[in-house]
Amino acid sequence: MYLYDAIPGGIGFAERLFRIRDVLLQRALEHLDGCGCDDGCPSCVGPAAALGADVKTSTRDVLVLLR
Ligand SMILES: [Zn+2]
Repeated sequence: MYLYDAIPGGIGFAERLFRIRDVLLQRALEHLDGCGCDDGCPSCVGPAAALGADVKTSTRDVLVLLR
């Protein structure tokens, strides 16, 4: 997910992704909920060992708030 374009003036990713943000957030939540790990893994949010034991729960909370 691009949060901003690094190129001055952008190349259009951020604007297009912003327009479909509801779908992106929903798909991210579905991906997170569908992952079989308990606390986070490289397939969903990254390694819990490096990001903290509550990273999966925290990520889910943020996604729900942003929807
Ligand atoms: Zn996972």
